[in-house]
Amino acid sequence: MDVLPMRILFATSEVYPLIKTGGLADVSYSLPIALKKLGHDVKIILPFYRSIKDKINSESCHFEGKVFGYIGDIKIYSTFLSEEHPIDVFLVDAPDLFDRDGGPYTDALNEEWGDSAYRFTVFSRVVAMLGNNQLALKWVPDLVHCNDWQTGLAIPLLQLEKNAPASLFTIHNLAYQGNFSKEEFDHLLLPETWWSIDGIEFYGECSFLKAGVLNANWVTTVSPTYAKEVQTPVYGERFDGILQHRQEHFIGILNGVDYQQWSPQIDPYIDTHYSINNLEMKGLNKEALQEKIGLPVSGKIPLFGMICRMAYQKGVDLVIESLPNILKQDIQVVILGSGDIYYETALEKIQKEFPNKLSITFGYNEELSHQIEAGSDFFLMPSRYEPCGLNQIYSLSYGTLPVVRNTGGLADTVIDATDKNILDKIATGFVFNEPTAIQLVAAVNRALKVYRKGKHFRQMRLTAMKQDFSWEKSSLEYEKLYRLAVKNVKNNKRN
Ligand code: ADP
Repeated sequence: MDVLPMRILFATSEVYPLIKTGGLADVSYSLPIALKKLGHDVKIILPFYRSIKDKINSESCHFEGKVFGYIGDIKIYSTFLSEEHPIDVFLVDAPDLFDRDGGPYTDALNEEWGDSAYRFTVFSRVVAMLGNNQLALKWVPDLVHCNDWQTGLAIPLLQLEKNAPASLFTIHNLAYQGNFSKEEFDHLLLPETWWSIDGIEFYGECSFLKAGVLNANWVTTVSPTYAKEVQTPVYGERFDGILQHRQEHFIGILNGVDYQQWSPQIDPYIDTHYSINNLEMKGLNKEALQEKIGLPVSGKIPLFGMICRMAYQKGVDLVIESLPNILKQDIQVVILGSGDIYYETALEKIQKEFPNKLSITFGYNEELSHQIEAGSDFFLMPSRYEPCGLNQIYSLSYGTLPVVRNTGGLADTVIDATDKNILDKIATGFVFNEPTAIQLVAAVNRALKVYRKGKHFRQMRLTAMKQDFSWEKSSLEYEKLYRLAVKNVKNNKRN
């Protein structure tokens, strides 16, 4: 068996704690840590956004020079992932592309940046140059692991050179494809031959996601169920055929979670630590949360939490439709989210009707998100599709029973409270099938029924808290694919 350590370059557009908009940042933090634990030499590469510049001191510049297609000079700085985890993070500094107010993909008003095709083409060129040892960084990866459309182009760019390293491409969410017009393609100065059906042309546009999916040695997505779903027209977002075409090199690997960040025993953000041995202490977090968000403080009233990007994917519309119905009962709901203003307005309207039952916080708030996980009894996650989903896994760890739709990673991580599963002591949540308000309300009512029968509720919580979705297992699956890819590339070079 091959046990030699590999050098892995992990290319991503967000990494916790430097910059985060969603689950990709969490994975980009915890997977490299898990790979390092397996003995591999991992380095991360990320754009040097303004918000990161505000956070860190970056004195050492490792590279300064030209990159094809970009007028100014590119600089590469580095920092550590965190004090505890001194993994190198290369920061690609192209000030006119990344040193701006706003987020990685949107401006301060939540409008998409108009030049992201160009921004991430330049970033991908740098990734490919590093991968091909063209930046004199004295470090050459065996494999480049790219994530989502922002780094998709890096893979065929890498392969323009003869001795390119192996590659793996992970789809964290198929709905985000990085599709741009022919006019934009022409400005990017990519090889003209790429504008073809076998290249990155995609329904009259060019697709950066397609660049990664077609060319990587291996393609993964973030749960086994989602990997199956996306090969069908319903979930495939027009990529079902392409993914079927790659099916022998396409698999789903469930994301792990970092229990150093998300455990009620050690979570620094929560009021009172607890575990399966003193579960009753969870109640103190509920009271602290109720007080913080301005709801009546009562241990008895069941509290449902929800944390998400306010997007159609997350089924926010289903929650909005269900709330007037479920809030008629003696329950409380706390929602934390940011995103679509339409949903915010609709939720605000309901909040005015039920001020003592519904609390809504708009914006991004790491601390509150932990407190909601610890303080809630149930967690709502009625996604229309869910590549993996992390919040339902965090919820399990906090004994906060998830109410989820039967799709993607939700289906792979939550075990429904059927009578049999409850009796077998394996149930961990409430799963419903169709994305309708009626089914969501029914699942909430099932949860309330179990809540009122305290015995089963406690048992389910204990079972949930014992689940283990750490990276140990999943990182081994990535390692296996990396080895296959590296071996394959070496063999091809020999032939
Ligand atoms: P996605 O990546 O599709 O947004 P995931 O469930 O995989 O969904 O991951 C979402 C991550 O982002 C979780 O860590 C979650 O706690 C966090 N998150 C989402 N919205 C917020 C918010 N408004 N405030 C704090 N954390 C948030």
